[in-house]
Amino acid sequence: MVSRELIARHCICCGSDQLQRSPAVLMPFVALRVFGHEPVEITADWGLRDLREGMAYTLCNSLQCQDCGVLFLDFRFTDEQMAALYHNYRDAQYNAQRIRYEPGYASVVEHYEQRAGYLAEVEDWLAPRLPPAPAVLDWGGDSGINSLFLKQNRCLHIHDISGVELVPGVKRIGSEQLGRERYDLVVCSEVLEHVSSPQDLIRQMLPAMSPHTLLYIEVPHEALVRQNPNSFDLAPLKRHWHEHINFYTETALRRLLERLGLQVVDTLNLPVDLGWTRSEVLGVLARLA
Ligand SMILES: [Zn+2]
Repeated sequence: MVSRELIARHCICCGSDQLQRSPAVLMPFVALRVFGHEPVEITADWGLRDLREGMAYTLCNSLQCQDCGVLFLDFRFTDEQMAALYHNYRDAQYNAQRIRYEPGYASVVEHYEQRAGYLAEVEDWLAPRLPPAPAVLDWGGDSGINSLFLKQNRCLHIHDISGVELVPGVKRIGSEQLGRERYDLVVCSEVLEHVSSPQDLIRQMLPAMSPHTLLYIEVPHEALVRQNPNSFDLAPLKRHWHEHINFYTETALRRLLERLGLQVVDTLNLPVDLGWTRSEVLGVLARLA
């Protein structure tokens, strides 16, 4: 099964083997949590006759699919490695460890504790296609603080591997309960950029969908992709990888969904001002074909 290669040789969205490849480094915080690697200086003491002295970081490759344009890290972390990377995500110890490598993270982390302002615009975009109080499943929704229709729903369920405390009005459900509710909307927002196999993840959502259910997928529209529209020469421009290991194009999301028997209904490009940074999200709305 090509979707679980540990070092990708096929596209994670469309399966193509036409990949542009360019060397890059895995940022030290991720390398530490996933592999236990720390940056190290190779000095004369090492006695290595054929290697140059200097800093060594965890090496990887940037890959860009020449068919659908998705740009991604070649390492495809195992479930265990992913669990290590996201263990106690954004708790005090996680934040302290991360700030040691990335001092700038200290000013960013506080913004994650408030509901993001752009969500109202996404709700406005979705609302005309939904009942006034929709039944919503938020896949990977964390505490529910950023769940769509948090204030206006018939039910709001969260399926999330983290054990964080939920905001009021939200209910956590396990995999075995997925088929029990008729959801109007299944949401997977700001998750697919982190996962090793987006195909496997979306496939897990299918039991929660009936023919009338809409699936809303949202990912960051990364600056590198935005600033180089339709470029198939992005791999040499991506020299480091962090927790976003997949940079999607709209075409890549379409190919991914179509391979799973889903039909794209509409797409959304939305500029967002998160307070500490301006960016853009890419949303795709789909249903069972
Ligand atoms: Zn592809």
